[in-house]
Amino acid sequence: MKDPIKEKLQHQGLRCTTPRKCIIQALQKGPKTHAEILKETRLDRVTTYRNLIALQKAGLVYRVYLPGRNALYVLCQAEKPSHAHFFCQRCSKGICLSPEIIQLASPWDTRVEKMLLLGYCPQCS
Ligand SMILES: [Zn+2]
Ligand SMILES: [Zn+2]
Repeated sequence: MKDPIKEKLQHQGLRCTTPRKCIIQALQKGPKTHAEILKETRLDRVTTYRNLIALQKAGLVYRVYLPGRNALYVLCQAEKPSHAHFFCQRCSKGICLSPEIIQLASPWDTRVEKMLLLGYCPQCS
């Protein structure tokens, strides 16, 4: 049987462990703070923290800081090469932008590793 979460993890060179699976499942329902992930997954603090770092390094999860709020962890939906993200500050919806959206002019034609655009989605603006 195919397990999409397992495939996603292995595709990024990560082993599919129970904590990683639990965290991804929690984030599939929407962006969450560290505390909310703990509550939902019932994992311990250190395990959650370590696995969130591994997932971020692999590009499966990204972190959003909004002023006056705790950092939110958001699941990256796309398997595209490095790309930027857009995040709605009102409804906390995150979308993956196509890699072509942010392109540096040559000779700076390198990959965008991390870029987050904050704004309002069509429903909220
Ligand atoms: Zn993404
Ligand atoms: Zn919105």
